[in-house]
Amino acid sequence: MSQAKSEFEAYFRCTDQSCGKTYSLNEVIYTCENDGELLTVEHDLERLKKYSPQYWKDLFEARFRSQKFPYSSGVWGKREWVLPEIEDENIVTSGEGGTHLYSADRWARDLGLGGLYVKQCGISHTGSFKDLGMTVLVSQVKQMIAKGVPIRAVACASTGDTSAALASYAAKAGIPALIFLPANKVSTAQLIQPVANGAKVLALETDFDGCMQIVKEVTKEKSIYLANSMNSLRIEGQKTISVEITQQLGWEVPDWIVIPGGNLGNVSALGMGFEMMKDLGLIDRLPRILLAQAANASPLYSSYKTGFSEFNPVVAKKTLASAIQIGDPVSVKKAIRVLKKFDGVVEIATEEELSDAAAKGDRYGLYNDPHTGVALAAMLKCKEQGTIGKGQKVVVISTANGLKFTEFKVNYHEGKIMGTNTELANRIIPCKADIDSVLSILKS
Ligand SMILES: *Cc1c(COP(=O)(O)O)cnc(C)c1O
Ligand SMILES: [Zn+2]
Repeated sequence: MSQAKSEFEAYFRCTDQSCGKTYSLNEVIYTCENDGELLTVEHDLERLKKYSPQYWKDLFEARFRSQKFPYSSGVWGKREWVLPEIEDENIVTSGEGGTHLYSADRWARDLGLGGLYVKQCGISHTGSFKDLGMTVLVSQVKQMIAKGVPIRAVACASTGDTSAALASYAAKAGIPALIFLPANKVSTAQLIQPVANGAKVLALETDFDGCMQIVKEVTKEKSIYLANSMNSLRIEGQKTISVEITQQLGWEVPDWIVIPGGNLGNVSALGMGFEMMKDLGLIDRLPRILLAQAANASPLYSSYKTGFSEFNPVVAKKTLASAIQIGDPVSVKKAIRVLKKFDGVVEIATEEELSDAAAKGDRYGLYNDPHTGVALAAMLKCKEQGTIGKGQKVVVISTANGLKFTEFKVNYHEGKIMGTNTELANRIIPCKADIDSVLSILKS
């Protein structure tokens, strides 16, 4: 059953302001035909503005964590702002979004913050926040196929989480998936996810940036649809995170949002979500954004140090935060625009800093993956330097589930990550199974 044509409208628009060429969302296109710039999904705001800010707040609240399809998804609960013309029968959802905003209140008190929240995006169907964008992309592909667009397969380059999400959503929809991973650079848990979902998985003897070049070539054939975040449909789903966080804070904007970044699509999405809320009157100010990079893969940090006047891609070095081991980010221009608008800051974390920050957070009840570790380390450094002020309210985006990174956790607590804080490493105590041995250990 098809619903009536939506009263709302969205289309692709070239991100180059002086060009601004638009394209239908049903076209197989990722960059502008005129100038090769990335596209963005633009919504007809005048139509959305016919409804009051309170209308939208009430609607989103009413749908939140609903049992009713498709509103059991935090993304589709905001469908008018995401993909207004999607038909119900084409929505491919695994209940993404609606994740907990974890209040680390004891840690906030210890740090002198007015609030410290960790948005638990890793508690999602495939264990990372990539599900938020992938549900949108795969749903749109399903709709295009239904309309007769000849798409045979979806494809992506990945550092692990994108491929897990794509393989799962494509399998749900019955669409073949093709995945390019850098050989030996993703965790076993991440590698096996697309394998289990039946995707065709190629391990290439290169890094992520090399895989990205290959997938761009492969998807020049229009029947293979590109699912990387240079396809701005992904951004539309990811941006709901901003609305969800604000909603969970009672429609109050925090002072800071901290997010780890690699290819930089997600920080762009974060900004777009807040801009849309401001344009539609749901909020009256913007938060500041702290973008966190691994020191071993930090081209944006170097650019930030020049006031963004220069940007030079690098060859990323190995980092435990493997999902952000990216030296030539596709969405760098979008990210810089957002960071300028949001009075943004870029900070880096070394391998030791990200490991210790993840472990520190775990002592307050979290279970952090290395990417969240990067974000937490950047937050701690900015607090220390006074960039994040006393009493401020901070939201850290946790991007993946710690359970995907068991080796990282084990190595940390066995003291195998060089230079980390031995006080936080918690050793297992071997003990004979008799009460005297147990009591003697407990006494010491
Ligand atoms: C994809 C990803 C990121 C970074 O997102 P970008 O859009 O590439 O900057 C951070 N953490 C995890 C776990 C990811 O999978
Ligand atoms: Zn253009």
